[in-house]
Amino acid sequence: MILAVTGGKGGVGKTTVAYNLGRALDAVVVDADLGMADLPTARGPDLHDVLAGRADPVEAVREGGPVALLPCGRTLVGARAADPRALVGAIEAVADEYGRCVVDCPAGAGSDVGMALLAAEACVLVTTPSSVALADAVRARVLARELDAGLAAVALNRAGEDPSVDRIEGLFGAPVTPIPESDVVARATAHGVPVASLDGRAAEPFEELGSVVQSSV
Ligand code: ADP
Ligand code: MG
Repeated sequence: MILAVTGGKGGVGKTTVAYNLGRALDAVVVDADLGMADLPTARGPDLHDVLAGRADPVEAVREGGPVALLPCGRTLVGARAADPRALVGAIEAVADEYGRCVVDCPAGAGSDVGMALLAAEACVLVTTPSSVALADAVRARVLARELDAGLAAVALNRAGEDPSVDRIEGLFGAPVTPIPESDVVARATAHGVPVASLDGRAAEPFEELGSVVQSSV
């Protein structure tokens, strides 16, 4: 199963959701934000090397940490040498080997996001309740539909007291899982670990999202 985590807008929590959903689903997380990677790095071959034809995608997966990860390089030189067209084959090779693969997409609706959606059977849209983020998520949904990636769930991040789940479910025609703003989430990002490594309760919304995804794909 290949699941793309997208949403259009930057900063809404795509990377946070991808990483913690990867943990909840026991999947390999692929950091496909080729120009602005945020997931933990590691020494050795990364996705830039894979997309430049210098490394094997399966051999670049790191299994040692709390979440199995195909990391991405951080340099502009590496990003320029990476061919996004090779992304589909790389993601498929990882999914063939490991079974489950969650892809962290960059912001926007560029060719890199398109490649991840082409490889994916389904996607999770990440948005906040703001009208700007919702409008971008609607556009991301259009792109996903064009590329035959079904919508498994919407993660409504930084959901407030009254998350208007029904209205947003109506807008997308898919289940909506609210994820509250939480200090633990911010700390987990700062430490480069999943939320569950710091606090099991704070990880519950991500586990819930995992259950929703599993029952809809
Ligand atoms: P994106 O990948 O969409 O650009 P990120 O997942 O990198 O967004 O999130 C941006 C920042 O917001 C990160 O520092 C992350 O820790 C923080 N963040 C995301 N979701 C939450 C949340 N629910 N509570 C607190 N901080 C959050
Ligand atoms: Mg990100």
